Amino acid sequence: MATVTQKTVLEAVPTGLFIGGRWQPASGGKTLAVHDPSNGRVLARVADASVLDGRAALDAAVAAQSDWAKVAPRDRGELLREAFEKLTARADEFAMLMTLEMGKTLAESRGEVTYGAEFFRWFSEEAVRIGGRYAIAPNGATRLLTTKQPVGPTLMITPWNFPLAMGTRKIGPAIAAGCTMVVKPASQTPLTMLALAELLRECGLPDGVLNVVTTSHTGDVMEPLIRDPRLRKLTFTGSTPVGRTLIEQAAQGVLRVSMELGGNAPFLVFADADVDKAVEGAMLAKMRNMGEACTAANRFYVHEAVAEEFTTKLSARMSALVVGRGTKKGVDVGPLVDEKSRDKVVALVDDAVSKGAKVLVGGEVPKGAGWFYPPTVLTDVPHDADMATEEIFGPVAPVSTFTDDDEAIRLANDTEYGLVAYLFTRDLSRALLVAEALDYGMVGVNQGIVSNPAAPFGGVKSSGVGREGGFEGIEEYLETKYIGIAL
Ligand code: NAP
Repeated sequence: MATVTQKTVLEAVPTGLFIGGRWQPASGGKTLAVHDPSNGRVLARVADASVLDGRAALDAAVAAQSDWAKVAPRDRGELLREAFEKLTARADEFAMLMTLEMGKTLAESRGEVTYGAEFFRWFSEEAVRIGGRYAIAPNGATRLLTTKQPVGPTLMITPWNFPLAMGTRKIGPAIAAGCTMVVKPASQTPLTMLALAELLRECGLPDGVLNVVTTSHTGDVMEPLIRDPRLRKLTFTGSTPVGRTLIEQAAQGVLRVSMELGGNAPFLVFADADVDKAVEGAMLAKMRNMGEACTAANRFYVHEAVAEEFTTKLSARMSALVVGRGTKKGVDVGPLVDEKSRDKVVALVDDAVSKGAKVLVGGEVPKGAGWFYPPTVLTDVPHDADMATEEIFGPVAPVSTFTDDDEAIRLANDTEYGLVAYLFTRDLSRALLVAEALDYGMVGVNQGIVSNPAAPFGGVKSSGVGREGGFEGIEEYLETKYIGIAL
């Protein structure tokens, strides 16, 4: 196999719009630049779709819907299985693309390829398990038949932090269920999605089933699609403010909506926890993706009896991490995605320090090009610090203490968000009681990562509606039809 380099992957990636099975330039001929966050240089230019291009993509998805819904479930499953195999075989290429446009290390990008590809494997298996039921009505006079049908043309809007996996966990179940789609990747990281579209084309996905539109006029191009009566579903992963706007737009057509929005994950360490295990979990929950994850631990609450031990061990691990360009060997932490993201982290740390937090590790922006921020540990972070309520989205671990379980639960639930919470304890009863009391869609017990293609991923409150992955994932793309039969 040829060596994978920056040059080879950038030369191979398509840069047009993918509409109706064909690669094409934007109708106005415009392009938008994709930057390398480690040095600010332009990596590539991709088509910058107009409102007309967006409409053409939906036209293609609508035209393909009826035939696609008739394709045998086994054939849809086999196609996904082939996509899983191809993606796995080409892991190094996809990892390089992701590292270049998003910044995470190659090791992390490879991890995302594995995770992202697993959604294709999981939903290849789910495609043939779409069921229905047959029942005798309570009065005995009629029969009740239910069947599941694809929801229909779906718009998918994805974020930059997991350029591949946030796409595959929507595209996988949509293909399995028989829905056609228009995908709009984030403007910072469109290359991975464009490469994925080409891979699916090579797997034989029929024209129009998947369409990909990249644009810098995001709201202008997306809103007419969301308001188009032919669209039947909107699935979005991104920030809560944008999610709220999209839900309002989707209300007009009464669309099915799935929203994977922001998080503010608490990480609870109880006095009886295995502290080494908690530190290991903290490193994963905090440092995966440089902290740029909706699942990132945003607030560490540690029982006062183990706070010092936990903070000392966490600080040692954090200060040992090597910061640099994600393509370099030996680097653990890449740059943040852009200047705005880094400025936000700087502002949150400054705010916490001005309110009394102490910096144990990091906290200073390194000199030079690229949007780097060092792994940082803060203690004595007051509960009124902005980072207690806002997503940090960076490698900063703020640690505060608690004295009893009730206080830990109260602090953990004191947020508008409800995506994921983590807790560390050796006491099974405590683990279950606390997990039940936490207002979150997901709880990690003695583990710092909950993401798993076989599990239902999603949040409550301002973190969203709907679930991705697991048995629940395909249901988001299916409607139940009931047929009443008189005897
Ligand atoms: P974002 O600003 O909300 O953008 C996400 C996507 O929405 C991008 O494709 C963006 O396009 C698009 N978008 C922005 N404004 C839009 C509009 N008016 N109409 C239609 N689309 C619009 O979020 P982000 O900064 O990329 O991602 C980080 C956020 O995602 C964080 O809050 C994180 O917690 C959340 N997230 C949640 C999950 C989850 O599963 N719950 C997973 C990952 C990330 P442009 O790029 O062109 O602006």
